[in-house]
Amino acid sequence: MIQDLADQLLIDGVWRRGAGARIPVENPATGEILGHIAAATSAEVNDAVAAARRAFRTWSCLAPVVRAKALHRLGECVAGEADAMARTMTLEQGKPLNEAKGEILKLAEACHFYAEEAVRIHGEIVPNTTTDIDSLVVREPIGVVGAITPWNYPAELIGWKLCAALAAGCTIVIKPAELTPFTALAIAAMAQKAGIPPGVVNVVTGAGAQVGQALVEHPGVDKIAFTGSSAVGLHIQRSCRTIKRLSLELGGNCPMIVTATAGLDAAVKGAVRRSFRNMGQICIAINRIYVARQVAVDFVSALGAAADALVVGNGIERPDADVGAMASAAPLAKTKEHLTDALAKGARLVAGGSAPEGEAFSRGYFFRPTVLADCTHAMKVMTEETFGPLVGVMAFDRLDDAIKLANDTPYGLASYVYARDMGEVRYLSSRLDYGNVAVNNVDAGIMNAPYGGRKQSGVGYEHGREGMLEYLNFKHIRIRYDEPAGT
Ligand code: NDP
Repeated sequence: MIQDLADQLLIDGVWRRGAGARIPVENPATGEILGHIAAATSAEVNDAVAAARRAFRTWSCLAPVVRAKALHRLGECVAGEADAMARTMTLEQGKPLNEAKGEILKLAEACHFYAEEAVRIHGEIVPNTTTDIDSLVVREPIGVVGAITPWNYPAELIGWKLCAALAAGCTIVIKPAELTPFTALAIAAMAQKAGIPPGVVNVVTGAGAQVGQALVEHPGVDKIAFTGSSAVGLHIQRSCRTIKRLSLELGGNCPMIVTATAGLDAAVKGAVRRSFRNMGQICIAINRIYVARQVAVDFVSALGAAADALVVGNGIERPDADVGAMASAAPLAKTKEHLTDALAKGARLVAGGSAPEGEAFSRGYFFRPTVLADCTHAMKVMTEETFGPLVGVMAFDRLDDAIKLANDTPYGLASYVYARDMGEVRYLSSRLDYGNVAVNNVDAGIMNAPYGGRKQSGVGYEHGREGMLEYLNFKHIRIRYDEPAGT
């Protein structure tokens, strides 16, 4: 699959060998170069936007049921190629093959979900002060979407934008992360296979600062749908040259609170899953845990043992490994930096703390899931997004202290609570200043509920009906009727 997609851009339904410079794509588990992509030139970005504009004229006017059928076909094509697409993802991103396949199947689920939503874009009739007037509120697609995505979930983060945009009647130009472009190109190939018309889905590859920025500044792009770091999100917001709709799904620094009434086994299981899945490279990863002092010793020792028990492996050779390689040198370096900082400030290493030993791990970006105890808010691990397999734990005495610490961050994406006392559940979930609060589970995002951050974690929503509203404008049509003659 990668060989077929190397150097290619999809513009107006045609695969083109990109004219720009070549950028190597590395396998993070081995350091091997998998292939190259082309840095799209500004002429190619213009062509992609122009193609999407032309296609918008017809795609937006199709009956919703026709768009729904196309999205269902896309879901079927994606599921049918799940093994090959998962392999592509593991090779370029590092996550274990089974997990990559799960992500591809979730992309297929997004296609079917938004196919069903496409036929439910209802309007409203709003009362007026006189009875001879109707106010119709209808929803219309925004236009051309520029989708800019990161490398941690190379299929799902495209899928949420692509499926909601297409269901709404928008067309799209996708700029995937340089680290994981082949998954994006494979998705575009599936859109073609599903018979989605030329120009509705376009993919341009290359560096964010050039190709992504060109989409942000392009007057022909009506909306930017971005997932990535808060710094780049802010930069995008500042650098739009014309008024555009923006949805920004940005960074997090997500807390978990474990009270004295929590089921400790469940809390440990949840903490391990959400701290280390995808090597902690998740915007909703648990970065920091506040645990009631009465249960802190037991919780920390169980968490350390569970982290040590996780299997780290090359995601192709060990498809069932718990965690694979990190996606590149940068998040690994940041993980080590946060670890060194915390240890220097008095944290206690409970599990991990180094790369796994052995030849199999010598060339890739591997690191053992790492737990730190006795942490404080003087440490980066507790106050910055690590985006790696590192979690800090701190004991608390009063619930209000835990809430204050949990909210002591510029971010507001996801938070987690483990408590059996329902009074505690209510008290905590209503006071945590986050877009998502998961209680006694760690799956903060599900397909049919809105998912989005507050504060520096972004604006707008993905998932659910709300995710599709991000691709629709409201139009108010106010009609005054004359009495028919002769009544
Ligand atoms: P970045 O912000 O570095 O990059 C995200 C995307 O933006 C990439 O495609 C990148 O291109 C592109 N980009 C970079 N600079 C510009 C620019 N000037 N103009 C337009 N596009 C640009 O994030 P990462 O890829 O490092 O992803 C990790 C971050 O994403 C974390 O902070 C994480 O929390 C966040 N995230 C948020 C999620 C959410 O739902 N809230 C979900 C997942 C991740 P390239 O890399 O190719 O140069």
